[in-house]
Amino acid sequence: MQKKAELYRGKAKTVYSTENPDLLVLEFRNDTSALDGERIEQFDRKGMINNKFNYFIMTKLQEAGIPTQMEALLSDNEALVKKLEMMPVECVVRNRAAGSLVKRLGVEEGMILNPPLFDLFLKDDAKNDPMVNESYCETFGWVNRENLARLRKLTYKANEVLSKLFSDVDLILVDFKLEFGLFKGEVVLGDEFSPDGARLWDKETLNKMDKDRYRQSLGGLIEAYEEVANRLGVKLD
Ligand code: ADP
Ligand code: UDP
Repeated sequence: MQKKAELYRGKAKTVYSTENPDLLVLEFRNDTSALDGERIEQFDRKGMINNKFNYFIMTKLQEAGIPTQMEALLSDNEALVKKLEMMPVECVVRNRAAGSLVKRLGVEEGMILNPPLFDLFLKDDAKNDPMVNESYCETFGWVNRENLARLRKLTYKANEVLSKLFSDVDLILVDFKLEFGLFKGEVVLGDEFSPDGARLWDKETLNKMDKDRYRQSLGGLIEAYEEVANRLGVKLD
C-alpha cells in the first residue's frame, strides 16, 4: 500500500493517507519526547523497535478478542492501520504506583494497586494532558456513556492479557496508556503499545525497562527496549 499525503506529524509518529480512504500508514520515527514534547531526542533503532513491538502486541490483543487497528506490518518503521476517528482521551491502567500518581498522592513508588486503577487524561498537549473522569467526557461530549463503558472494559481486558504476557518473561507491567477510536461505529484500539507508553520493570531487580530511562536520564534506553522485545520473542532484524 503506497503512502499518499502526510496528514499529521506527532511527537513520535507520522500519519499518512493511502489510496484506501479507510486505511492509514503509521510511520514510527526515532524521536523520543518527554515533558509533553518540551524535550526531544533521537535514538537509533527506536522507531523500528516500537513498530515491531507494537505489531506483536496488537496481534496478541486482537487474538484475545480486542478489536485493533492493525492490518499489516509494512516495513521496519511502518504499519498499515485502520483509519480511526480518535477519541481525545488517554486510558491508563495502573497495577503499581509510579509517575504522576506518586507525585499527586505521595504514595510509595511500586505500591501494588488492587484492584488496578483506571485513569482518563484529556489528549491536549497545550493543557498538559489534564486528568479528567467519565463525567467530564460525557458533559463535554468527548466520549459518550456507551463508548466509555467499552473503553474501560477493553482497557482492563488488555491489562489482563498483557500483565500475563509480561509476567511470563519476568517483567512487571506497572502501568500503560491506550488510545481508542471509532471505525464504522465500533470502538477499536489505535495508536501504539510500546515501552514509550508503558512502564515495565524487571521482576527480580525492579530495573526500569521503559521510557522512564529517558525521562529520568538513566541511560540505556534502546538496550532496555531491545531486552524487552527479545524476552517476548519479537523479531527485530
Ligand atoms: P502525539 O499526537 O501525541 O504527538 P504521535 O506522534 O504518536 O502522538 O502521533 C500519532 C497520532 O496519530 C496521534 O495523534 C494518534 O491519536 C493518531 N492515531 C494513532 N492511531 C491512529 C489511527 N489508527 N487512526 C487515526 N489516527 C491515529
Ligand atoms: N503515558 C503516555 N502518554 C502520556 C502520559 C502517560 O504514554 O501522555 C503513559 C506513561 O508512559 C505511563 C502511564 O501512561 O506508562 C501513566 O503515566 P503517568 O500518568 O504516571 O504520567 P507520567 O509519569 O508519564 O507523567
